[in-house]
Amino acid sequence: MHNELIFSKETENLIQESEKELKEVFNNINKICEYNSIKVLNAFKKNKLSETHFNTTTGYGYNDIGREVIEKVYSDIFKSEDALVRSQFISGSHALSVTLFALLRPNEILLSITGTPYDTLHEVIGIKENPSSLKSFGINYEQIDLIDNDFDYKKIEEIIKNKKIKVIEIQRSKGYSTRKSITIEKLEKVIKFIKNINNNIIIMIDNCYCEFVDTKEPIELGADIVVGSLIKNLGGGIAPNGAYVVGKKDLIELVGERLTLPGEGKEVGPTLGINKSILQGLFFAPQVVASSLKTACLTSICLEKLGYEVEPRYNEKRADIVQNIIFHNEKDLIKYCQGIQGASPIDSFVIPVPWDMPGYDDKVIMASGSFTQGSSIELSCDGPIREPFIAYQQGSLTYQYGKIGLMNAIEFLKTKQKYE
Ligand SMILES: *Cc1c(COP(=O)(O)O)cnc(C)c1O
Repeated sequence: MHNELIFSKETENLIQESEKELKEVFNNINKICEYNSIKVLNAFKKNKLSETHFNTTTGYGYNDIGREVIEKVYSDIFKSEDALVRSQFISGSHALSVTLFALLRPNEILLSITGTPYDTLHEVIGIKENPSSLKSFGINYEQIDLIDNDFDYKKIEEIIKNKKIKVIEIQRSKGYSTRKSITIEKLEKVIKFIKNINNNIIIMIDNCYCEFVDTKEPIELGADIVVGSLIKNLGGGIAPNGAYVVGKKDLIELVGERLTLPGEGKEVGPTLGINKSILQGLFFAPQVVASSLKTACLTSICLEKLGYEVEPRYNEKRADIVQNIIFHNEKDLIKYCQGIQGASPIDSFVIPVPWDMPGYDDKVIMASGSFTQGSSIELSCDGPIREPFIAYQQGSLTYQYGKIGLMNAIEFLKTKQKYE
């Protein structure tokens, strides 16, 4: 093992050549970044953000003015009626779970129209047995798979005309699947389609990895409630944990009452000193998302040039910050992840190997040398050890660190480096 990063001339040339070809793609990412930066600043301005909002509360957390401003800022950015932005949500998965339990009652039906939901929701819904699942409370679940990476409009129409569906869940980012992620355009079309047939169904969006990738967010397209993680895009690498839920006022109230307790809801929740981190993370988020997108595009074009299959391609319209490399063999997947880990700021000396992770069916290899545990807005790469051996790479707090991680991973792929 090297104690310092060494790159071959060949790899450096590949990067330089690729960067030239990415000029237009990067220009477009910069424009979106600028647009979203203005959105953030306007939300700060409108709510007269000041140092007093970096206050901290303890105990019940009544009248936390910082927390209240954060939630107004989120509402303005998402153009939603209300928001819940809390560190009492452990993560995005927890917020998704709380939201589903808040919206659904016994005998009602939850419908996913993007196929099997994210792995951590399987036990929440009861797709995998768990005595605390929605299913254990008598809440039913139906699922419609995507066809050719788009919604199955025929089946959606049939089911919502024939059954009383309470909540439709749409997961934008692909998770550990082989499908494409859902762009804003596709999302807009399906929301209009559903609302035209039945305006009462609650449309809930799992927005993880998608925030600030485009200029619009799901509420603007007609979604009722949107959920995401603060250790992904909007935390900007600064928020140490937490998640957000934005949407209609009555729905956010239900989620608040489920997160804390009926009768107290949004009114309680001590912030314990986290306000500044949440706000500063949001301030950095447009730029951090842009760095992640540039890293993803550079990865895509370089790996394609090296003969690997990639998704999306470098110049494709993106819905999220995730880049897939389809390795078609276990060894390359593992070596690539080991290369990413070797160029991480934290634990660069650790050699990741596949392991049985709780909540996942196959062994998973994970490269994540991040300041915040499990943060995937920081450069990270992982993949289940199963055909066709896909790496899921995402994040990078700066483009330069992303590029260096990629270069190290390419060196690992090409050489004798560690593989066990
Ligand atoms: C990451 C992710 C989640 C869960 O978020 P965590 O903060 O890791 O719990 C849910 N859905 C999708 C699509 C994700 O990518």
